[in-house]
Amino acid sequence: MPNILMLPGDGIGPEVCHQAQKIIDFFNQNHKTDFHTETDLIGGAAYDKFKTPLTDETIKKAQSTDAILLGAVGAPKYDNVERQARPEAGLLKIRKELDLFANLRPAITFKPLIQASSLKPEIIEDLDILILRELTGGVYFGEPRGMQTYEGVTRCIDTQAYTAQEIIRLATLGFELAKLRNNQVHSVEKANVMETGKFWRDQVTKLHEKQFHTTTLHHMYADNCAMQLVKNPKQFDVIITDNLFGDLLSDAAAMCTGSLGMLPSASLGSKNNNKQHALYEPVHGSAPDIAGKNLANPLATLLSLAMMLKYSFEMPELANLLTQAINQTLDNNIRTADIMSQNCKQVSTEQMGDAVIQQMQAIQK
Ligand code: NAD
Repeated sequence: MPNILMLPGDGIGPEVCHQAQKIIDFFNQNHKTDFHTETDLIGGAAYDKFKTPLTDETIKKAQSTDAILLGAVGAPKYDNVERQARPEAGLLKIRKELDLFANLRPAITFKPLIQASSLKPEIIEDLDILILRELTGGVYFGEPRGMQTYEGVTRCIDTQAYTAQEIIRLATLGFELAKLRNNQVHSVEKANVMETGKFWRDQVTKLHEKQFHTTTLHHMYADNCAMQLVKNPKQFDVIITDNLFGDLLSDAAAMCTGSLGMLPSASLGSKNNNKQHALYEPVHGSAPDIAGKNLANPLATLLSLAMMLKYSFEMPELANLLTQAINQTLDNNIRTADIMSQNCKQVSTEQMGDAVIQQMQAIQK
């Protein structure tokens, strides 16, 4: 029986995760799947009960489950809590404990929402990019870091460092994912000015020659990639890049599509004996301003669930059914407040979840 650990977290997290639970229940009832879900605490919700944002018990559950769906963490009331006990520390810890080294951020446009983007419709119509960001290495973790004083001069250091193994495992996943798509990879770094960039390029080139020569590989400098993403984003299929550039480029690519409430993500670990740790979550935060009001857009979470069905459970047909139902719901002019536009019907979080289920039922008939 496939197990899913639900970690709704804080703010709108529980509201949007509840919609995902409704979809899972629908699949169990109608598609003879037998997903088993268990719910646990993370972030502020865990801190309130245990004075830590992630307990050892929850880490154990996360390590043994097949996939995790996380809502969001954080709230202003924790702003003065010490750093290691803050909600966000729970999220960083679970990523680290499970060694989730690859962050998958798709940027896909939904036709009915095309006006929400600041780019021209013809530039983003039918856009479907996957950005693969290295998540556990690079400048956010490299040593040494911090302040140093030498001969009376104080300076502050961050270190960009990558091992060949860290680059190769990310690039391997990138090439494998590209094979399931349009078989094209852009490897992005700054080999012109950075040693790690040159090393990254060399490692990716060697891997490509050795194992993935049937996939088209392009190398691109990160600054050019940023420009190309807003100029002609449809040239990309899969982008592989490091932690820092990935952080920036995935936000830029995501915004080509318009709305924070529509952006899913997946963070994957290494495959061991056919088992792979995987955490799926919407890109948005806990939205304290609308929490508890039944106003949140649950579609980013439902799209994260679709990614889980595809990548963790190899159920592309159910992933497609869910994605198609979301598209159809939007096509029927049903909107939550954040994506509301003229001549559309505004619905609540719960009603949006129900509308997607209704569409899945309609598609199956
Ligand atoms: P946020 O993403 O929570 O909210 C930004 C704006 O977008 C708000 O106006 C919010 O109402 C709106 N919004 C976000 N998601 C929405 C949705 N699904 N439907 C409708 N509207 C939505 O970012 P923030 O305000 O900077 O941060 C709030 C809290 O969330 C902070 O504590 C922050 O640390 C945390 N945070 C957590 C994560 C995470 O859990 N992965 C990510 C980002 C921020």
